[in-house]
Amino acid sequence: MEMPVHNVIIIGSGCAGLTAAIYAARANLKPLVIDGYEPGGQLTLTTMVENYPGFPDGILGPELIENMRKQAQRFGAEFKAGAVTEVDLSHRPFKIVAGKETYEARALIVAAGASARLLGLESERKLMGHGVSTCATCDGYFFRGKEIVVVGGGDSAMEEAIFLTKFASRVNLVHRRNEFRASKIMLDRARSNEKIRFVTPAAVEDILDVEKGAVGAVKLRNLATNQVSILPSEGLFLAIGHEPNTKVFRGQLEMDANGYLTTRNGSKTSVPGLFAAGDVQDHRYRQAVTAAGSGCMAAIDAEKFLEEHRD
Ligand code: NAP
Repeated sequence: MEMPVHNVIIIGSGCAGLTAAIYAARANLKPLVIDGYEPGGQLTLTTMVENYPGFPDGILGPELIENMRKQAQRFGAEFKAGAVTEVDLSHRPFKIVAGKETYEARALIVAAGASARLLGLESERKLMGHGVSTCATCDGYFFRGKEIVVVGGGDSAMEEAIFLTKFASRVNLVHRRNEFRASKIMLDRARSNEKIRFVTPAAVEDILDVEKGAVGAVKLRNLATNQVSILPSEGLFLAIGHEPNTKVFRGQLEMDANGYLTTRNGSKTSVPGLFAAGDVQDHRYRQAVTAAGSGCMAAIDAEKFLEEHRD
């Protein structure tokens, strides 16, 4: 059976992908959005978003995303569940495989985002979902009255630590340096919270009690004195940044040393007809509003490309 060739396929359904879908749908391109591993992207894993323009009292991340999705659907965007497992970008139409489904597209927008970075410990892998978490808003509730550790020194670490004080009896914020990447306002908020204790400069060397199937303590190394200590803890939250979801594009698309897609002249990538938006190509700004802005750019670039290549 001949499969239909889509005008535009958008890979990813976070802020960038949904904004691209709104613009492409309003341009009558009938975009198809492939949701990805984490439908809705990182905004669905957060609570209150206070810096997205237009919401003076803030808006919940999942609500903001749901609104964008409805807005895209209203103009005719179509959604498919599933994650892309293979692509062939060697000629157009591009071929996109998501599990058992194969799609073809004249233009492609990659808005696959970035996923939580891990420490790379064996114990972390074994205890993921059993006391180790990458999402405070998803799992915080399970740590009522417990002592926990948050790892990281950026805004995410501060935000998660502050959020987790709603549940935990104490939050030990472990960071490898004495300086912080976090913005002053977030750092000040965390510092003034009496349930948060800063443990720096320290590295997590191991997570204990794998044999019990639960987190019991964290083995830390003080990086100034080299001393090792055991910190009792029933949970460990990772907030150490993200990795771009670009594995399936390796060898077919230009990317930087960290795997972020390279864009030029707006959202253009190294392959004509393929555009990138959001965190998959941005390790600098990484904000909801910048992701949305770049999604808009990608849709406009794709529309222009299709006008110029009517094949
Ligand atoms: P980030 O700013 O990249 O910070 C990551 C932190 O994790 C850094 O402190 C880093 O330490 C540490 N880290 C990285 N790899 C590590 C490892 N292997 N072991 C131990 N520590 C490690 O990431 P983010 O906090 O997720 O923030 C990402 C972006 O989102 C930023 O632009 C941020 O402003 C934004 N954001 C904003 C808000 C808000 O405004 N409310 C909330 C969340 C996020 P070093 O500093 O030593 O490298």
